[in-house]
Amino acid sequence: MPRIIMHIDMDAFYAAVEERDSPELKGRPVVVGASPKGGKGRGVVSTANYLARKYGIHSGMPISIAYRKCPSAVFLPVNMRKYHAVSQEIMGIVRKHGEKFEQVSVDEAFLELHKSYDEAAEIAKKVKEEIKERERLTCSIGIGPNKLVAKIASDYRKPDGLTVVKPEDVLSFLSPLNVRKIPGIGPKTEAALKARGIETVRQLRATPLFALKEWFGDKFGGYFHEMARGIDESPLEEEREAKSAGAEHTFDEDTNDRTKIYGVLAQMARAVVKPLKNQKFKTIAIKIRYENFETHTAQRTLKHYSGSYEESLEVAKKLLEPFLQKNRKIRLIGLSVRKFG
Ligand SMILES: [Mg+2]
Repeated sequence: MPRIIMHIDMDAFYAAVEERDSPELKGRPVVVGASPKGGKGRGVVSTANYLARKYGIHSGMPISIAYRKCPSAVFLPVNMRKYHAVSQEIMGIVRKHGEKFEQVSVDEAFLELHKSYDEAAEIAKKVKEEIKERERLTCSIGIGPNKLVAKIASDYRKPDGLTVVKPEDVLSFLSPLNVRKIPGIGPKTEAALKARGIETVRQLRATPLFALKEWFGDKFGGYFHEMARGIDESPLEEEREAKSAGAEHTFDEDTNDRTKIYGVLAQMARAVVKPLKNQKFKTIAIKIRYENFETHTAQRTLKHYSGSYEESLEVAKKLLEPFLQKNRKIRLIGLSVRKFG
């Protein structure tokens, strides 16, 4: 049997967990993220439930804008510890239904099966039922011949969706979609393509490879060319539990106060490393955004695997150091670790 890939994606995960645990939230727009502080908050939205999305609120949006769009929404802080615990339960349910398993993030995973498409659809229904029954949460599932198609399919019908794309239907499924639906095509690439009259996957497929390579370089040009055809040979990466773990903090006021910045960095290092328990990592990365939104990242890969909070903090401090300047104020800092072993 050829391989079939399933992509499982929890629906509005953080918000759904909060709604489940607090019945009084039922029927209300819920926004999980930074504190709105009466419209003066400076962080971003992590997850909005479907009701909040009706007001135009979405993840990544500045919390102050979300507040303006719907001041009566329930704004809740991110409770990562809780979401990780729920995630572990869900991943345990998903994992046992396939031959290979890859967790992509706290609320997303791939499963590989060697069965018929009909059998795969039955398994997907079972996974959904089990998650609903045991965790009282819904997910959306996409099934396809590879990770690319499965991921696009899970996003096709949300929430609580199930979309099956058989190999012979891949092209007709992808063709009418906006290029933005392809993982890896962000707003910048979308705009660059639009400027050349390319908005749908069908139009992208009709674009010659040499043109794509000329516009986006060999690597990305080639990648877009294959994606437009639904081609993706990448295997599931079973060994890693998650690609990365990280946190960001937006200061209430832009600052160049070192004590304050290092204090927040230490808090973040603790919040990122402690929940990993015995999981070891190799790469430590920081992100810094100045008051004018100029953003930099820096990272270091250690020679050994580490699980140490102290070590990550020390490396993060060294990485941050060159960016701390007397005359420049900082808006946001971030810390993440990856390359798990
Ligand atoms: Mg999700």
